[in-house]
Amino acid sequence: MTQAVLDSGVMTLDDLLERPEGERLMSCIQCGICAATCPYGDVMEHTPRTLIAKLRAGLLDEVLTGDDLLNCVTCYACWAKCPRGIALTDVLLPLVKEQVLLNLPEVPAELQAAFEATLRYGNPMGESPRKRAAWVEEAGVEVPLMKDVGRPVDVLWIVECYASYYPRGRENAVATARLLDALGVDFAILGPEERCLGECVRLAGETGLFDTMREQNMATFDKYEFGKVITSDPHAFDAMAHLYPAAGFRTPVEHVTPFISRHIEDLLPRLTRELNATITYHDTCVLGRRGGLFDEPRSILTALPGVELVEMTHNGVNTICCGGGGGGMWLDAFYKARGHDRLSDRRVEEAAATGADILAVSCPFEVPRFEDSVKVLGYDDRIEVRDITELVARAME
Ligand code: SF4
Ligand code: SF4
Repeated sequence: MTQAVLDSGVMTLDDLLERPEGERLMSCIQCGICAATCPYGDVMEHTPRTLIAKLRAGLLDEVLTGDDLLNCVTCYACWAKCPRGIALTDVLLPLVKEQVLLNLPEVPAELQAAFEATLRYGNPMGESPRKRAAWVEEAGVEVPLMKDVGRPVDVLWIVECYASYYPRGRENAVATARLLDALGVDFAILGPEERCLGECVRLAGETGLFDTMREQNMATFDKYEFGKVITSDPHAFDAMAHLYPAAGFRTPVEHVTPFISRHIEDLLPRLTRELNATITYHDTCVLGRRGGLFDEPRSILTALPGVELVEMTHNGVNTICCGGGGGGMWLDAFYKARGHDRLSDRRVEEAAATGADILAVSCPFEVPRFEDSVKVLGYDDRIEVRDITELVARAME
């Protein structure tokens, strides 16, 4: 059902309501599970339940004329739990948010800056496209650019924005390059030609900008031949797996974490360094709750020498969002001004309660978000935040 909606491409709210999928929306039984499971359900006036109730009653303008929907961090909790299988997070909410943004007298400054930078520079930080592959100098292994290779490659690796530019994200990129090299994978990256895949701007409500990013990226993909795509970013994976096919993208795509999990046996002879650590894993909303990838990251972590894996209270489908998705990464000041607690703080408190030395993640957004919370909450002498790729590379040294 959800896939059918997504394969139809980006549409308007009116389009949705005229389609069979819109009828499913109207099948909502007003059970309130979505509101109860929402991490900001206590502060949101218009949870999916009330949103649908107002839509049915012809009162949607009450939702569209405020900024309440910006509290939604597109965590997929309501989507995963809705007993009617309504495509809330990936379809209804972005379409409503699009109307909300159009009606706002002023889009929150951080969010607006991220939109403008994405359009102008191809990344939300406003960094120069020429510096996109600057991290390669730190990799210590060869990381070829597609434009230099001059032949088809087995794997196109989409590094994505935070792993390309953020100082701590770059450690993820360096570790991934070393793992691909150790596995003998025939890969290349786009480097300065790579642009944001656009999933977060779409889920924040900027569907027009998503269309632009997809068009630009499809033109770049069409220049080269590659057998499959892997990406370091769950949000990029989600876009390419579910939204790019509507524009003709048919190449298989996989996130780095399941890719490494499939190849962990091949890496075992190289994993000789004991980590001597207790690790707890944070299930990302997109890879986990959305993609069903719960076992793969854990199979990697338990293969590392000297690792004890412990679970947080909320794990698997019940994970707590880091607060960075759907534009949340660029709305911290908006939430702070309203007195909302930070979801990354909630998560780090749970990680600390396990007694773990390391909070492991599979998304380049999460490292800076959780590291900030670790410092703010005073756990910086107790907990280290690491992407799984960094831990595998550490065990290989
Ligand atoms: S969980 Fe689904 S059926 Fe229940 S109120 Fe929310 S949208 Fe409606
Ligand atoms: S996607 Fe998450 S934050 Fe958004 S309404 Fe659903 S449960 Fe709440």
